[in-house]
Amino acid sequence: MEKVIIVGTGCAGLTAAIYAARANFAPLVLEGHEPGGQLSTTTLVENFPGFPEGINGPELIMNMKSQAERFGARFSYSAVEDFEPAEGFVKIKVDGEWMETRTLIVAAGASAKWLGLDREKELVGHGLTSCATCDGAFYRNVPVAVIGGGDSAAEEATFLTRFASKVYLIHRRDSLRASKIMADRALGNPKIQPVWNTVPLEYLSDAEGEMRALKVRDTNSGAESELEVKCVFVAIGHNPNTKPFKGKLDMDENGYLLQRGGTKTNVPGVFAAGDVADHVYRQAITAAGQGCAAALEAEKYLAQFEH
Ligand code: NAP
Repeated sequence: MEKVIIVGTGCAGLTAAIYAARANFAPLVLEGHEPGGQLSTTTLVENFPGFPEGINGPELIMNMKSQAERFGARFSYSAVEDFEPAEGFVKIKVDGEWMETRTLIVAAGASAKWLGLDREKELVGHGLTSCATCDGAFYRNVPVAVIGGGDSAAEEATFLTRFASKVYLIHRRDSLRASKIMADRALGNPKIQPVWNTVPLEYLSDAEGEMRALKVRDTNSGAESELEVKCVFVAIGHNPNTKPFKGKLDMDENGYLLQRGGTKTNVPGVFAAGDVADHVYRQAITAAGQGCAAALEAEKYLAQFEH
């Protein structure tokens, strides 16, 4: 039986791995479908403490991984398919095989929802992103667009006005879903221009492969047009990666794991860390902090099995 299995290799999972490995548990870390998590698809990270000049997301993740490996963490390119709580341990199904572990740290993250337009994958990092906090500062004094009408879109559009010359807030309906206070703040900002009843059709890039414009369609008139923007921020929500745990670990109505004091879940020995449970802060550093807390909680929990 494993002592510690960690699901996910974003900031939360890797920080948990560093702590659990240094505590001599030789944790098994399952990389999942998106190794490295959301940081692995960003460029320069300027807000992770300790890097005054910033650090590239993938490099930060690789550093964390080798730090965990140095202390004995083991990595496997596999994902959890199923989960069953048991008496004093839990079972997870990985690549068709059931495994047993005393503790499980679920740090499987959340995946940004994308529009599903052509060339979406190749443009991420080249004027297409789902994170204003990460990438907003790269787009100073240029027009940008935010897609969506919820709190995320309103918040990101407002945040982006610090840098961009103009922010188009493109929404498929004629009113925002966002809470009144956030909607009012966004719509009252002179730099934000709402573009109602409009859906994105196509990303248009320049000769260097960077975003140049967004082709959109007015859903009322059917008219198509191009908005000249240097970056498109897709803010149509995130999906927490909690499918294998459905019905077994407590979740909110959007599928985010519920934590009960610190990182504990409703199942003893199972801890949740990072974006899989946090839809509020969603930062690399907050995820890392939760990963650390989850590993310390796991260590405390494991003490009862030492004889
Ligand atoms: P959300 O509330 O689900 O809103 C998603 C928005 O994207 C909706 O306006 C939706 O349009 C639009 N959308 C979805 N799919 C689309 C598509 N394929 N094409 C175009 N538009 C699409 O997601 P969220 O804004 O990320 O918020 C998620 C949760 O986190 C909410 O509970 C929110 O309150 C919370 N949150 C809170 C804060 C805060 O309090 N500071 C900040 C961010 C998020 P429709 O409106 O037409 O459905």
